[in-house]
Amino acid sequence: MANQALRSEDHAANRIEDGAARIVIVGGGTAGWMTAALLSHSLTTQECVITVVDDGAGGIGVGEATIPSIVQLVRTLGGDEAEFMRACDATWKLGIQFCNWKNEGHTTWHPFGQCGAVLDERDLFSYWLADQQRPYHSYSVNWAAALAGKSPHARNSLSPISATGSYAFHLNAAQLVEWLKKRALANGTLVVHQRVERVEANGEGQVASVRLRDGHQVSGDLFVDCSGFDGVLMRTCAQQKWVDSDAQLLCDKAVTLRLPATNVKPPFTTATALSAGWAWEIPLMTRRGVGYVYSSQFVSDEDAVEELKVNVGPSENTVAIEPQFLTMQVGRHAQAWIGNVVAIGLSAGFVEPLESSGLHLIQTAIERLLQYLPTPNTTEKAQDALRTQYNAEAAKQYDEVRDFVQLHYLVSERDEPFWKAARETLQSAALQHRLRLYKEIGMLDVLQSSAFPDASYYYLLAGNGWLPKRPAALSLSVEREQLQIVLQAILDQNQSALRQLPLHEEMLQHVHATGAAKAS
Ligand SMILES: Cc1cc2nc3c(=O)[nH]c(=O)nc-3n(C[C@H](O)[C@H](O)[C@H](O)COP(=O)(O)OP(=O)(O)OC[C@H]3O[C@@H](n4cnc5c(N)ncnc54)[C@H](O)[C@@H]3O)c2cc1C
Repeated sequence: MANQALRSEDHAANRIEDGAARIVIVGGGTAGWMTAALLSHSLTTQECVITVVDDGAGGIGVGEATIPSIVQLVRTLGGDEAEFMRACDATWKLGIQFCNWKNEGHTTWHPFGQCGAVLDERDLFSYWLADQQRPYHSYSVNWAAALAGKSPHARNSLSPISATGSYAFHLNAAQLVEWLKKRALANGTLVVHQRVERVEANGEGQVASVRLRDGHQVSGDLFVDCSGFDGVLMRTCAQQKWVDSDAQLLCDKAVTLRLPATNVKPPFTTATALSAGWAWEIPLMTRRGVGYVYSSQFVSDEDAVEELKVNVGPSENTVAIEPQFLTMQVGRHAQAWIGNVVAIGLSAGFVEPLESSGLHLIQTAIERLLQYLPTPNTTEKAQDALRTQYNAEAAKQYDEVRDFVQLHYLVSERDEPFWKAARETLQSAALQHRLRLYKEIGMLDVLQSSAFPDASYYYLLAGNGWLPKRPAALSLSVEREQLQIVLQAILDQNQSALRQLPLHEEMLQHVHATGAAKAS
């Protein structure tokens, strides 16, 4: 291993003479290898030499549900979807089913993608408000397909779901790491299997190198902290400031179990409200990931495990599998990029995985880094401007995801002490403004680039009975008869799309067994 470290240093030094920047990534979990894969895909080896330093202890590895941006990641990295699915033990995901959130027995949905159709550049919601004969989500083709247990892809044509890329995957996070690693290594990324013991500064407040357990050193120009909750580089930055989100989100622990796969795998994630948090159920090809995200103030670890086991139901393997407990640091660094250290992944911040945003936040952070990456000619003043912009965007994105997750608790009517407390949590000014706008007139101020578009908020708010006092003027101007024709046409179109879609299970067996199906 020491040789590898030396080799990487020699290699890096040679490249420096050629003017290549040395990018050192500390941590080889999902964040580390996704950063290496995307940077090495976008930058040439003349521009930079990338080294991943990982201690081999292993990452969190429970991040198993994703949102549609992952489809773009697979395409960008040149992966064939069927091959990706086999490599990651993946199933498809069309959205999330929320059970018992409003109250016991109540179900709502967050299907991916647009609901129905965009009419006059407006979300269907404005028109639906004037009708309300069926739930808003029932106009979503993803919802109809999820309920019918269908695949997002048709066999011989482009389905509306594949055409818009409004689907995602449930995957084995450890296998995803291997898939990303293969691509990063093929693009020339170097790897050093050692633990970073010390971070060494250059006298100008920047990191110069990391000192490894075996005494060797890896020097760099830019350091990416992907060391998870450890945050080994960020911890050494004098200006780093952690912004807790415990005033907004009360859950601070998780317990996970792995169960055998079910015969028929649903094409959606299930999130079920429990007494002091919520449980996820994620169907993979060869197993089922389940976990309970809870607040340690309101339930003990032992009771949480028992509650989770009751929720997943009887299974001969449930008791045999040792539960894994995780303590979650919910919050973010005030600045994710300080000097020449950028934190990506859990070292930058964490929001509970209710909306499967973890991998999305990593992917967008890397895309942002690529956008703002300084070149050798960038002046210190310009670098400062780039960092400031990066940090502002990263903070805004994190806070928006956090607010969206918090909203799931605010709409609940459950009466256990945890849920009452969750409704009393602090709301950011941005969330208060958004909710005021919605409550008064049914409008939202969500940016197009947001991880969760307008429709996501409408599914959540309307699905839990939060309706605006009055609809926007436009929807009042539509004739009722005309509106019903349009709504019926959407339902008919969805049904016709569904007929083209094979069953999820059938398509999964096809892709995993033969590998012949080229998805999409
Ligand atoms: C309970 C829970 C459920 C989640 N569910 C989802 C989900 O459904 N969907 C989703 O998108 N996201 C989910 N996430 C988030 C997701 O797991 C993380 O975003 C993802 O794993 C990225 O983690 P990471 O790479 O930043 O950190 P980690 O996975 O912790 O990796 C850190 C790496 O750094 C290495 N390391 C640490 N210290 C050192 C050192 N000193 N020297 C060298 N190497 C070091 C470690 O060995 C490890 O390999 C979930 C998270 C939790 C906690």
